[in-house]
Amino acid sequence: FPHGVPPRADRRRCMNLLDSRSVMGDLGWVAYPKNGWEEIGEVDEDYAPIHTYQVCRVMEQNQNNWLHTNWILTEGAQRVFIELKFTLRDCNSLPGGVGGTCKETFNMDGTGMTEAENRVMKESRYIKIDTIAADESFTELDLGDRVMKLNTEVRDLGPLTRKGFYLAFQDLGACIALVSVRVFYKRCPFLVKSLAEFPDTIPGSEASQLVEVVGRCVNNSLPLYEPPRMHCSTEGEWLVPIGKCVCQPGFEEINGSCQVCRPGFYRSLLESQACSKCPPHSVARRAGATACACEDGYYKIDSDPANMACTRPPSAPRNAISNVNETSVFLEWAIPMETGGRKDVRYNILCRQVLPDGRALEECGPNVRFLPRRVGLSNTSVMVADLQAHTNYSFLLEAVNGVSELAKGHAKQYVSLNVTTNQAAPSPVSVVRKGHTGRSSITISWAEPDRPNGIILEYEIKYFEKEQDSSYTIIKSKETEMVVEGLKPSSLYIFQQATARSAGVLSSRPALTVSNQLQQTTSCGSASLIPPVFSSAVTATSERAQVSIVAVAITLALVLLAVVAGFLLNGSLSLCVRRCGYSKAKQDPEEEKMHFHNGHIKFPGVRTYIDPLTYEDPNQAVHEFAQEIDVSSICIERIIGAGEFGEVCSGPLRLPGKREIQVAIKTLKAGYTEQQRRDFLWEASIMGQFNHPNIIGLEGVVTKSKPVMIITEYMENGSLDTFLKKNDAQFTVIQLVGMLRGIASGMRYLSDMGYVHRDLAARNILVNSNLVCKVSDFGLSRVLEDDPEAAYTTRGGKIPIRWTAPEAIAYRKFTSASDVWSYGIVMWEVMSYGERPYWEMSNQDVIKAVEESYRLPGPMDCPEALYHLMMDCWQRERTNRPKFDEIVCLLDKLIRNPSSLKKLVNSSHRVSNLLVEHASEDGGRIRTVGEWLDSIKMGRYSELFMEGGYSSLDTVAQMTSEDLRRVGVNLAGHQKKIITSIQEMRVHMNSTNSVLNI
Ligand code: AMP
Repeated sequence: FPHGVPPRADRRRCMNLLDSRSVMGDLGWVAYPKNGWEEIGEVDEDYAPIHTYQVCRVMEQNQNNWLHTNWILTEGAQRVFIELKFTLRDCNSLPGGVGGTCKETFNMDGTGMTEAENRVMKESRYIKIDTIAADESFTELDLGDRVMKLNTEVRDLGPLTRKGFYLAFQDLGACIALVSVRVFYKRCPFLVKSLAEFPDTIPGSEASQLVEVVGRCVNNSLPLYEPPRMHCSTEGEWLVPIGKCVCQPGFEEINGSCQVCRPGFYRSLLESQACSKCPPHSVARRAGATACACEDGYYKIDSDPANMACTRPPSAPRNAISNVNETSVFLEWAIPMETGGRKDVRYNILCRQVLPDGRALEECGPNVRFLPRRVGLSNTSVMVADLQAHTNYSFLLEAVNGVSELAKGHAKQYVSLNVTTNQAAPSPVSVVRKGHTGRSSITISWAEPDRPNGIILEYEIKYFEKEQDSSYTIIKSKETEMVVEGLKPSSLYIFQQATARSAGVLSSRPALTVSNQLQQTTSCGSASLIPPVFSSAVTATSERAQVSIVAVAITLALVLLAVVAGFLLNGSLSLCVRRCGYSKAKQDPEEEKMHFHNGHIKFPGVRTYIDPLTYEDPNQAVHEFAQEIDVSSICIERIIGAGEFGEVCSGPLRLPGKREIQVAIKTLKAGYTEQQRRDFLWEASIMGQFNHPNIIGLEGVVTKSKPVMIITEYMENGSLDTFLKKNDAQFTVIQLVGMLRGIASGMRYLSDMGYVHRDLAARNILVNSNLVCKVSDFGLSRVLEDDPEAAYTTRGGKIPIRWTAPEAIAYRKFTSASDVWSYGIVMWEVMSYGERPYWEMSNQDVIKAVEESYRLPGPMDCPEALYHLMMDCWQRERTNRPKFDEIVCLLDKLIRNPSSLKKLVNSSHRVSNLLVEHASEDGGRIRTVGEWLDSIKMGRYSELFMEGGYSSLDTVAQMTSEDLRRVGVNLAGHQKKIITSIQEMRVHMNSTNSVLNI
């Protein structure tokens, strides 16, 4: 630092081991030979006294003058720096004749010898550190001006392994004045950074070496995540800080130290900076609080954040109202006035029945159903079903929140509602059994309905003889068994049963409930039971089976099928049948109000599907609808497929107290994002709301351990499209229609629930070992994202074009009617055993063709009735498409009447440019040459074709270009168009191997 003092940082960093200027007295260095270096006192620029060593024997030959310093202690330093300040005489400025001996350099040497060893100077033990030359040498003129041309040179020395060393300066004939010698080492000085202390540290010996130092957290502080570290460089600088300390809870950092939080303030998290004021309804009486305590009557649960106010239980729900519908009660209320400061308000219902004496109350039994459930309701309404008719009930509605459990002393806040249920029909009689069958009598018995809904006064039995279905007999019984007498021998009887009860004390119109039918023949000495067709209720065997009876039974079964179908077609008895004619019959106004499905009643306006999006927290939605399964109940055995989020596996599930079942296990692969987890579980939130034999059943979810899983029932035959391709042409038409019926029934259920599937396709139907088809793949837009068939539309959404109704493609109008369109495509996939809809046509061409009213042609061997249904599903106007309940009815009708499936689609439906022009009335059938020419816009030639003798499509199919010219089609473009269509016609005729028979 030639001009002044070194900067503060350098002073702290550089530790002097020797500074010749700071020694006041004699330095005591040893010169050899004696007449070489000599110590001369001088003054510096500021006239301060300084020691200098000088030598200037430039006139003499062979100079070798040594100057040895004292022993310099290293103080542990492994590398030291030597700073020399000196002046050197310019040889050229000396008087002539000395040029040959004068030098302008000198050597600096060092030795690690100990003090004792060095008592006798041994130059040979020294090692040269460097030859030192001057940047600037001075002349006599300079001397005269007293301008000291002072040079500064710094050299470093290391690694040093000994405790000390000597330096020596060797002059070989120069004119030198050594003004100062400073020896120092560098260290990283004591440092406090981010509340961590780092001690004085001596760097390593190598130039680029860093020494890692672990810091110590200052008082009342703690390391955050990991101990703080710094790295000391050889230049004495602290580099690369890692980690830090933060004040421990109850303290905050002020000016680099940790100060205690004042009363009324707290600091809980290591991540937060300063002490915070206690949140509302909480206090911290002492200094140094890590949390605030709730005031009396206020509470917090563990998961509440520290900065959340203390809360209390809610007040009672308000404005509760009830709406009684027969034996169901719809309860609705408003949120409590006081939510206690929390968002997690839930409602519990306590249902009590008023006993007949009018005074005592008894808790409602397990048969009473609560929709969606009884406790933990997040919505402010509930449907209570299956109550007893004409009974008084008292409902207590309670609001609770996260702290209700803690507030033991807090009186519960209820609102109570008293209701009286109405008259209701008894539930159907489920199982009807046959007893003894005589020549003219049949004994039948049944069980009392599950829900009699009052005292059953009597049962009504309606029966008729198979061929006399226009007249029937009703007999009544008070018992659950009766002998029906006066029957004709060897005749087939159909029993249909209803229960009746009186409303109140006075008998009024009996309420009928349709139950299953029993078909039974009276014996001609022996009895036979016709196997019930499409009736789930009856299973019984003949008392005295005879081989010949089997043949008789089969014959009779066929007769019966026709009888039952004909009977049902009359539309006089079955509720279902009344709704079959979807295109013609208007709905019964009564029915518009109330729909009967699967034996339960659905009230209009009660939308049972809840969009999981309505939940603020998606995890809550999952647990609302899906049961959490402990992973130890599941055993993964095989991988059965690949899903969007991970593998799909199968294996047994054994839940406590339940028998073991086989399940499918969808897994969420590792490394998922929170969004992916939500999307994955979304499907479970939807699936969990459904309960239907044709909807894939959810067993539960595993979210508390990894991997996250969705557990569903196992479907042995996998997805329908693959299954059909594998079993091409292996099923009877009835089996295929049975599958379609199942899918339609599942879809009817979904549309009743208000759920639109949007991605109905054979690939999203699963098939079990009994050929039962179940709708799967739920999840709104996500489903479409996953579907490899989904393509982007011009509006940006992803849509499986081939399966989607035009209005949904064009303006995203997804409804149950657009699901019906997709259902039509699924019908086509099923009837063509997994053929790809519209084959290899591009999506753009499909959209265009459909837009121009072209539709898929009837699959090979497809019953005409089914093709008509498909074409109806593909009505452009969505309100003209059938509803799912109409589809189910129609399919049931076809199943009951298999002969209606005999007539196959006319071959000409499968010609005409592959696609069939959709005509709303006749389903686009092309029967005549004229219709065919019209369909390819060549109708002008109709007459010429007729005149030329080409009056049927099969004669046309043989035509050549020559024939066309002969007929009178002269324009080349028209010839080409007609010939192309004829060629397609031929391809189709050959591929179907059928003869055109029009
Ligand atoms: P997904 O992610 O639902 O499309 O499932 C992927 C594949 O796993 C399906 O195509 C099926 O082959 C198979 N799979 C999914 N769920 C089941 C199940 N419940 N039973 C049998 N196989 C299934």
